[in-house]
Amino acid sequence: MVQPASHPVTGARPAAAGPRSLYDLEAAELARLVEEAGEPSYRARQLLRWLDRRKVAELEAMTDLPAGFRARLAERLAGAGLVLERHQVGDAGWTHKFLFGLPGGDSVESVLMLYPPVGQAPEHEDWEAGPPSGRQGRATLCISTQAGCAMGCTFCATGQFGFTRNLSSGEVVEQVARVWALLGQLRPAPSVPDHLTNVVFMGMGEPFANPAATWGAAWRLHQGLGLSARAITISTVGLVPGIRRAAHEALPVNLAVSIHAATDELRDQLVPVNRSWPIGELLGAVRAYVAATRRRVSFEYALIGDLNDGLDQADELGRLLAPLRVPSSGGHAAHVNLIPYNPTPGLDLRPPSRGAVRRFRDAVAAHGLPVSVRANRGVGIDAACGQLRTSVGREGRRPQAPLPPRPAEASG
Ligand code: SAH
Ligand code: SF4
Repeated sequence: MVQPASHPVTGARPAAAGPRSLYDLEAAELARLVEEAGEPSYRARQLLRWLDRRKVAELEAMTDLPAGFRARLAERLAGAGLVLERHQVGDAGWTHKFLFGLPGGDSVESVLMLYPPVGQAPEHEDWEAGPPSGRQGRATLCISTQAGCAMGCTFCATGQFGFTRNLSSGEVVEQVARVWALLGQLRPAPSVPDHLTNVVFMGMGEPFANPAATWGAAWRLHQGLGLSARAITISTVGLVPGIRRAAHEALPVNLAVSIHAATDELRDQLVPVNRSWPIGELLGAVRAYVAATRRRVSFEYALIGDLNDGLDQADELGRLLAPLRVPSSGGHAAHVNLIPYNPTPGLDLRPPSRGAVRRFRDAVAAHGLPVSVRANRGVGIDAACGQLRTSVGREGRRPQAPLPPRPAEASG
């Protein structure tokens, strides 16, 4: 992709005046650019083949497109595109963290987690990272939808950093394309696939606070880049209007809900949006989602030592979630995924003891619910869940008040 001159002191690139990524070009605009360049209409399809099938986002590499057409595109996209600013390797090559510079000077992180085939893996623990596959391993990319996050969860590094800006849908898709294109060179073992098998919206930001980009990207990943809908997971902190929308989206992606506490008293402290949509309302929206989609939902629970790892919370969680059933089969609709807390600099919170994790898991499982414990990934390179917090770009804005204003549509 064309890279404009950066600021000599800050290194920041000017924001793109038009699309922020080649993946933001709308079909109509693309057709217009082709026409203006005096090129036949199939040039648009050629460009999309580069972007979607080959995962190539650099105009210079698209050698079968005429130079004049590429120059027009480069002019239209001046300042656009992600710049890979840093690549860190962890877990002996099985985890990779990428820092992408965005137009305008902010940045986001994406994390690639590679898994060997079943049998070679110690234990299958990451439920939403995709089902275990027989002969092939998995390659799961965790992507960001916002630079920072405005939700202010008190234990999360991204939340503590504050919110800078929403990503466009093309910027979300470009993270996937850029890492996909690198995957062949990064594989630590030949059994790891050379393509991404799963994409999880669990990086920086709250996907349902940026719904247009989130759904636009999910559709493009499916229809353009060829990922099956079931290979895509969107994680939300519990924005009820977003869950309601997900219930009626035609794209059957997986939904994960970050719950982290089973009582409003405790959840209010950890997840400030709980004061707008308390647990009862959240579960009402999930119930409606399950009824409409007949799909299971993953509940994420970051287990923090001596804070939310008590058996009273585990028991209450089981009591709340066990009645959620898939209408057709009658099977459990909730799957609980426990994430032992990843320490965050500046926050005086600690991981739970191994015994506490085991006791919590068993107490939830006693309600008949499926429970898994997430394997820690990328801790050494600060790439684990909730550790993403770039120190590049502007200082984020924090929520002004402890309560985000409650949108009118949620009151019904
Ligand atoms: N905003 C969305 C998606 C990104 S966060 C959401 O909150 O669901 C991805 C997951 O990591 C969430 O479940 C989040 O609560 C959890 N998380 C955040 N900080 C963490 C930490 N320090 N240790 C473990 N999990 C954490
Ligand atoms: Fe935002 Fe999710 Fe972190 Fe909460 S846990 S601050 S919603 S990224």
